[in-house]
Amino acid sequence: MPSYIVLLGPPGAGKGTQAQVLSEKLGLVHISSGDIFRENLQAQTELGVRAQAFMNRGELVPDDLTIAMIRERLSRPDCQQGAILDGFPRTPAQADALSGILSQLGGKVDVVPYISVPAAVLIERLSGRWTCRAAGHVFHEKYNPPKVAGVCDFDGSELYQRDDDKAETVARRIQVYTDQTAPLIDYYQKRHLLAQIDGTQDIETVGQHLLDAVKQQR
Ligand code: ADP
Ligand code: ADP
Repeated sequence: MPSYIVLLGPPGAGKGTQAQVLSEKLGLVHISSGDIFRENLQAQTELGVRAQAFMNRGELVPDDLTIAMIRERLSRPDCQQGAILDGFPRTPAQADALSGILSQLGGKVDVVPYISVPAAVLIERLSGRWTCRAAGHVFHEKYNPPKVAGVCDFDGSELYQRDDDKAETVARRIQVYTDQTAPLIDYYQKRHLLAQIDGTQDIETVGQHLLDAVKQQR
């Protein structure tokens, strides 16, 4: 049976950082909805152009576009063993759609680690975040610096600061998370899938707790 893991948490909680490590440890693909939108934007596809205005404002891309994109991604052969979902679902409608998509693929959500981090910490994390152009690898200027400033350790590509990591947009994104995504904590708790992880610890400790939680529930 394929294994699907949903990483839940506010922007800056460490979902992308942890998904990358977990993906290597478990041999499952890492699917980041934000990365897919940014790749589409770079390539100026219709999806990218439609998503752009929402992303710039720190708002959610409409559910219909987002769900269609994830449905297509999950149907590819590299997801046959399962996947680690980072940034999707972000609304209850997306969560309902996900369970429908996975049941068509013969699977279900196995576990939802929820990485909790208070808002004040998120702001500091996002304002120091540097992202790689080629593959979305993330670094932090203070907490997880690259070996060479401005260069990705993994693929040598340029690191940049995302436009939506500016202070005003970050505040909006945290508000949007609280209003539209935080209800998923309850949603998955009711389904006995939630595993809360303290995301304020260092990257390695969070990773260890995450791996323990996944092993316990899978
Ligand atoms: P998300 O995908 O949830 O938005 P990221 O993984 O991109 O979060 O992490 C946001 C920023 O915080 C990045 O700069 C990352 O290097 C840094 N970071 C991630 N986890 C931790 C941690 N446990 N402690 C300190 N900084 C972290
Ligand atoms: P972070 O992890 O820092 O919050 P992401 O890279 O996951 O940022 O997302 C960046 C932006 O892409 C979001 O602010 C939103 O506009 C859009 N986005 C990503 N995933 C979704 C989703 N599941 N539903 C709607 N919009 C999304």
